[in-house]
Amino acid sequence: MLLAALKSYWGYESFRPLQEEAMTCAMQGRDSVVVLPTGGGKSLCYQAPAVCQGRLAIVVSPLIALMKDQVDSLRSCGIPAAFINSSLTASQKVEVANDIRANKLRLVYFSPERLVQPKTIEFLHGIDLSFIAIDEAHCISEWGHDFRPEFRQLRILRDEFPKVSLHAFTATATEQVRLDIINQLNLRDPTVLVGSFDRPNLVYRAERRDDPIRQICEIIDRYPRESGIIYCTTRKDTEEISAQLNARAYRTRPYHAGMSDQARHESQDEFIEDKIDIIVATVAFGMGIDKSNVRYVIHLGMPKALENYQQEAGRAGRDGLQSECCLLYSIAEFMRWKKMIETSGASNTVTAMTSLQAMNEFAAGVVCRHKRLVEYFGQAFEKSNCQACDVCLGEMDEVENPLIVGQKILSSIVRQGQGRFGGEYTALVLKGSKDERVIRNQHDQLSTYGLLNDQPLQTIREWIDQLATQGFLQRVGEYNQIELTPQGWQLIRGEATPRLLRATEAKQRKKKRAEKTAASWDGVDRELFEDLRVLRHELAVEADIPAYVVFTDETLREVARVRPSTLDGMRRIRGVGDKKLADYGQLFLDVVIEHGERTGVVLDNWSNAGRATADQVTDDFAW
Ligand code: ADP
Repeated sequence: MLLAALKSYWGYESFRPLQEEAMTCAMQGRDSVVVLPTGGGKSLCYQAPAVCQGRLAIVVSPLIALMKDQVDSLRSCGIPAAFINSSLTASQKVEVANDIRANKLRLVYFSPERLVQPKTIEFLHGIDLSFIAIDEAHCISEWGHDFRPEFRQLRILRDEFPKVSLHAFTATATEQVRLDIINQLNLRDPTVLVGSFDRPNLVYRAERRDDPIRQICEIIDRYPRESGIIYCTTRKDTEEISAQLNARAYRTRPYHAGMSDQARHESQDEFIEDKIDIIVATVAFGMGIDKSNVRYVIHLGMPKALENYQQEAGRAGRDGLQSECCLLYSIAEFMRWKKMIETSGASNTVTAMTSLQAMNEFAAGVVCRHKRLVEYFGQAFEKSNCQACDVCLGEMDEVENPLIVGQKILSSIVRQGQGRFGGEYTALVLKGSKDERVIRNQHDQLSTYGLLNDQPLQTIREWIDQLATQGFLQRVGEYNQIELTPQGWQLIRGEATPRLLRATEAKQRKKKRAEKTAASWDGVDRELFEDLRVLRHELAVEADIPAYVVFTDETLREVARVRPSTLDGMRRIRGVGDKKLADYGQLFLDVVIEHGERTGVVLDNWSNAGRATADQVTDDFAW
């Protein structure tokens, strides 16, 4: 029954990992906590059972934008759904209430504060509810990174609706947060389902921020006319970077909390509707944005916790297609966060410092970045090569003689005077720079002066970062001066060896990266894809819904691989359910057939189907 609904409404053939188990809980009225990564398919876990039960399911969701998106999406699949929030007029609310009473709706979305209002509760007492799903359930926990006090009020649900099962969904939950969710909601012997935190379709890269605009352009040029998010630390940066990119003919807009409500909405809407390609934002942007076709997320700066990074970067590739997360970090930023935490006087400084340290180790570390993330969240990572990060993709070369290089760096620090100078300065000495400070301090007289002059300055800086993340040196004092740790002394004595990586030569790296991106288009007829995209855009504008609600990029790419010539063929494409076939099938077919006639390419090319699509990648790598 569930599978039939998946096929008929969504056009999907199979469950994603843990979906069936999660759906079964909702079908059988057993409380549950479901932790799946972003893009893991949480929404379907409550939407499909709601369709199958034939009664009303309530969904609690924190943001208006998110509700609208989900409801648009459900309706486009032929599922009657609605939301109730402040964006509705009084008469619209009455209409929804009437539809609920007449059992016309399968899902209704509420914000937590609206759901717990006595009037709403009283109204719902008269309704035959199937279950209540709580999305973004980590917001209920003070231990989470996104605590929202209004979620606490959801405690009353258990007492008010003792017969209705409660289902909590989240992407990021530590054990502690999970327990807190269970306690706060007073769940009854819940089934706890925790999926893999890994997102195999995301390619992680990290490099030092050096020449930001050049670095950013190199990334976005790999994704012409596709969507991306650039996160900046300050409001001023968002505006400056956006202006600089616009001057280079990219289509961007800034987004930050200091903008007027209207300007912010405009930026957000234009991004969601694909009128601009890039949003340059502070972290104020993102929560509740379900845009599935974000192909890259660039961080121009280091978040204060690895949890935050995982969440922000995780906004890439929700549709399961290969996408990129690139972190352009600076150690100065790391030190700023560190100081802020140290001086905050807050009660959770230890946790905050652990998260920050993990963030730094992710950025400047020398191990697989997927592994680092997954292990940080308490799961094992078995693969020896993820094929999806700069370390594993061979974009960084192992330094041949890391012990000698490490000794050169550390002995320079000792000779300069321990704890007196920072990493930047040390790199200048090792490079043999004529920098005025170096000369003034007579460090051009040191035996370590110019010892690494055959290396780019950037590489020396990165090695210093790498030594720090491996515990051989530490930063101290007001100016982040560096000094050796006991482990660093072991290295000097040759008793410990670091792992040092160097970015491969720029041209070669650029080529490798472009090839990796191009591979995700394997077998796709790009010209046809563009034509299909134009049609999708027109239909989206007409229906006032985002383009990815019409069809996801994954579905369009598959159509452009197979080039189906019949409605039956179209129906076999993943993501084409009954309603979408009826609404859009013929229109897309016309484009395919016209393209076939014009170019003479073979249609119904099923041998080309399903290459590197989301679930294949997922099955192979993650679960
Ligand atoms: P989450 O809420 O966990 O971030 P979503 O529910 O938004 O994830 O799902 C991400 C994408 O994956 C959506 O486009 C969704 O339609 C798709 N999806 C979900 N389940 C399946 C499935 N069983 N087969 C194929 N695609 C799926």
